Amino acid sequence: MPELLIGGTWRDARSGATREIRCPADGRVVATVPEADEGDACDAVAAARAAFDSGEWPGTPAATRGALLHRAADLIEADKSDVARAESLDTGKRLVEAEYDVDDVVRVFRHFAGLAGDDAGRVVDPGQPDVVSRVVREPIGVCSLITPWNYPLLQTSWKVAPALAAGNTFVLKPSELTPSTAILLLHHLEKAGLPPGVANLVLGSGAAVGPTLTSAPEVDLVSFTGGLVTGRAVMAAAAATVKRVALELGGKNPNLVFADADRETALDFALTAVFLHSGQVCSAGARLVVEESIHDEFVDELVIRAEQIRLGGPFDDRAETGPLISAAHREKVEAYVAAGIVEGATLRCGGRRPDAPELADGYYYQPTILDDCRSGMSVVSDESFGPVLTVETFTDEDDAVRIANDSIYGLAGAVWTSNAGRAERVAARMRMGTVWINDYHPYVPQAEWGGYKQSGFGRELGHTGLEEYQETKHIWHNVRPQPQGWFGPMAAGDGDG
Ligand code: NAD
Repeated sequence: MPELLIGGTWRDARSGATREIRCPADGRVVATVPEADEGDACDAVAAARAAFDSGEWPGTPAATRGALLHRAADLIEADKSDVARAESLDTGKRLVEAEYDVDDVVRVFRHFAGLAGDDAGRVVDPGQPDVVSRVVREPIGVCSLITPWNYPLLQTSWKVAPALAAGNTFVLKPSELTPSTAILLLHHLEKAGLPPGVANLVLGSGAAVGPTLTSAPEVDLVSFTGGLVTGRAVMAAAAATVKRVALELGGKNPNLVFADADRETALDFALTAVFLHSGQVCSAGARLVVEESIHDEFVDELVIRAEQIRLGGPFDDRAETGPLISAAHREKVEAYVAAGIVEGATLRCGGRRPDAPELADGYYYQPTILDDCRSGMSVVSDESFGPVLTVETFTDEDDAVRIANDSIYGLAGAVWTSNAGRAERVAARMRMGTVWINDYHPYVPQAEWGGYKQSGFGRELGHTGLEEYQETKHIWHNVRPQPQGWFGPMAAGDGDG
């Protein structure tokens, strides 16, 4: 199937190259897609540029753009079971989780559909008569949208929906591991009536197509979600032409549990915080930071529950979580656990692949808890992005905040306590883009999402998530123009001899 979308035409890669997509649950091939190279990426950027400079989309009324996004939301919703199935096959995540993701995607499209015509700019006081001074928002231009494999369609929707709502054109590059739902999305956008060339899709490795998408002079904005190391390369590549850049990078997120927290709920959420999607969540609560006085009983109970988590493929109704994305990623997680043990952590459970023969072909890894951890260990400070919980302890409120903030990352974190004053004090001092109090993981499209520190900059969702795709222009209109007389014959003092 021709699955690159360039200038309104579905086509194969110029080179004819293809890539097999394998389901991480069993390693079988679930799709074969074109593998683009630099030439295809250049074609896509040129198509997006032409559609922006000469096409109708940037000038389309905002209400019409919003209506198109609503139609796209309806189409995705109607196709939910096929979209969720494709997402599960690419990522290995449970079907029910993929279905939640599709529901979220629909909500994200509706959120930005509603915002599209919300801000027509503002009139400002020019400080003098006979002038109309106003500030308007315009689309930025051509956007490169680069997304990861853990929430492929959801992360894509956070970029595609606001980019379109604002009137931009774009080139989308999903992770080479999980392209299927991006293909479906672009078909739905076409069906919804998006003009040719506005949405372009290239599939391929970051190494092959990334440099073009991040450095081509025709690109105005790069919005990237992925790992820290790639994010730094993206930022450097974009610097030469001073592009706008938005980075949503990793996290190493603390989950602070005070002794006065509701024990049962905190335990339950501590598991979900880290083991949901086998820890392949940017905001995963992978650092349990627990008050010293309850450490032993809290961690003992957590270990009992973690050992009972059932692993399985996307369509196994009994499974509670699934595999890691690839063999290479599992090896990376294994290396972090091994390093943690060498550095002094105590392995309390997991730390190995499951024995079950039916899981042998997938990239599974047992939920793992490492106790006796401290900052400075690589398994604590780096994002392992797997089902690995590290446990640290704190003595008092200041200590808890200090440990929580002791990270180069600042994406998300949580605090569990029944003391409302303490909850607010601690939340205010946590240097993260999202803080949950007595909860973990929820987000809504109406609220901004993004990182402090090296978790990135810029914000997705909320209102700011639209503004990221807009330029701001000041228009000064002198409605009674007259000579000013600053220079020349009318200048003050002229003719005095
Ligand atoms: P990654 O950095 O390996 O890849 C992300 C994307 O960048 C992929 O599409 C990849 O092909 C592309 N890429 C690779 N090299 C490139 C280059 N030189 N130029 C341009 N693009 C290039 O990340 P991943 O492994 O796919 O995703 C996991 C990471 O994503 C984790 O670190 C996770 O925390 C992060 N993430 C962050 C958020 C957030 O909201 N902050 C959300 C989801 C995932």
